[in-house]
Amino acid sequence: MKEIVLVKYGEMVLKGLNKRTFEDMLTKNIKRRLKSLGHFQLTSAQSTTYITPLEDDTDLGEVVERVGKIFGIAALCRACVCEKDFEDIKVKSVEYLDDILSNAGTFKVNAKRSDKAFPMKSPEICAELGGVLLEKFPNLTVDVKNPEVTVTVEVRDTNAYVHAENIKGAGGLPVGSSGKALLLLSGGIDSPVAGYMMAKRGVHIAAIHYVSPPYTSDRAQLKVETLCQKLTEYCGGIAFFCVPFTEIQEAIKDNCPEEFFTIIMRRLMMEIAQRIAEKDNDLALITGESVGQVASQTMAAMACTDAVCRIPVFRPCVGMDKTEIIDIARKIDTFETSIEPYEDCCTVFTPRHPKVKPRLEDIEKAQSKFDFEPLIQKAVENTEMKTFDYRR
Ligand code: ATP
Ligand code: MG
Repeated sequence: MKEIVLVKYGEMVLKGLNKRTFEDMLTKNIKRRLKSLGHFQLTSAQSTTYITPLEDDTDLGEVVERVGKIFGIAALCRACVCEKDFEDIKVKSVEYLDDILSNAGTFKVNAKRSDKAFPMKSPEICAELGGVLLEKFPNLTVDVKNPEVTVTVEVRDTNAYVHAENIKGAGGLPVGSSGKALLLLSGGIDSPVAGYMMAKRGVHIAAIHYVSPPYTSDRAQLKVETLCQKLTEYCGGIAFFCVPFTEIQEAIKDNCPEEFFTIIMRRLMMEIAQRIAEKDNDLALITGESVGQVASQTMAAMACTDAVCRIPVFRPCVGMDKTEIIDIARKIDTFETSIEPYEDCCTVFTPRHPKVKPRLEDIEKAQSKFDFEPLIQKAVENTEMKTFDYRR
C-alpha cells in the first residue's frame, strides 16, 4: 500500500497574496530537512503539502518526526493513497486502519471532497464507509461528538487519501519568512528557548556567543555549540559567531565602578552584537532575558542596555516564569545541556552589590571614562564564525 505524509499549513493560510512566498519557504525547509532520508516529491494544493516518497523503503516515521519540528505546520499525518474509486477506498481503509480500529471503541468518518466530480457527496462517503467499518470491526460504535478515532477521507485532484491520525505540528511560520535576527546565546536555559521562540515566528536565527578565556573554558564554549546544534532541529542552519571578550571584561573591571560592571558589560555586548548583525544582515537582536530574574534584568537595567541599541531587541521570555521556560527547554531538548555546570562570561567579575535601578546618565558617565572603541573593534575583528546545520 502506498503511503504519503500530508502536511496542513498553520497561520500562513491567512496570508492572502503573500501566501505563495510562505508556501515556497515551507517547501524549501521541508526539502532540506528530508534530504538525507531519500527522494521525495512535494506538491502543494489547498493549504496542504503532499510529501510522496519516491523509494519504497523510506522511513515515514522519521519523516513525520522531522517534519513535526518544522515551523509553519499546524498538523500532519501519514495517509494511505487510494484510487478515486469508492471500492478501492473501502478495501484500503479496512486494511490500512486495521491496527488502530481493532483497538478502538468509538469512531466517526469525516469526508472532504474537493474534487466535485467525484460521484459520491461527503455525507454519502461517511455513511457508506462508516457502515463498512462497523461491519468489519464489531468492536466499534459510532460517536460523532467525541470519537476515539476519526477516519478522514480526502478526495482530491489525482487521488483519494485515507488517514486516522492527526499529529499536532510545530505551529508558527516557516523559518526565514520573517527575516533574520541575531540571538545572544549563552550556555544558560533561557537564551536557547528565546531562539526557539523567535524561530517559531519565522525568524531565521544566527547566534553570537562571548567567551572570556582563561576565565571561561573551552568546555563552556563547546556546551554552547552543542546547544546551537540542538537548535538546528527547529531553526535550520545557524551561523555561530564567537567573540573574544576577555580584554573588554578586564577593561571594565579596571576602569569602571564595581556596581556598574554588569550593565556596562551588557551594553558592550549589545554594541558588538549590532556590528556583527549589520555585517550578517540581521535585523534585530534576541536575548533570553526575563523581567526581574536577576539584577541586570530589571526594567531600569534593560533601559540602560537598550539605550545603546539601534535595532529592535526581542526578549520572548520577558514575561515568563522560569518554570515555563524550563518546560520549553525540556521539550526542545536543550535543558540537560544548559544545566551542565560551566561558567559563563557573565559570571566573571560579578559585582557584590549590583545596581538594580541604575540611572542611564550615571552609567554613561562611568562608561565614558574609558575609551572602549579600540577594544570593541578588535573583538569584532577577531570574532570567529562557524556554521551549524542538521546533523542527519
Ligand atoms: P540564560 O539562561 O539565557 O543564560 P540568564 O538568566 O542566565 O540567561 P544572564 O546570564 O544575565 O541571564 O544573561 C541574560 C541574557 O544575555 C541571556 O539570556 C543571553 O541572551 C545573553 N548572554 C548572557 N551571557 C552570554 C554570552 N556569554 N554570550 C552571549 N549571550 C549571552
Ligand atoms: Mg546565563
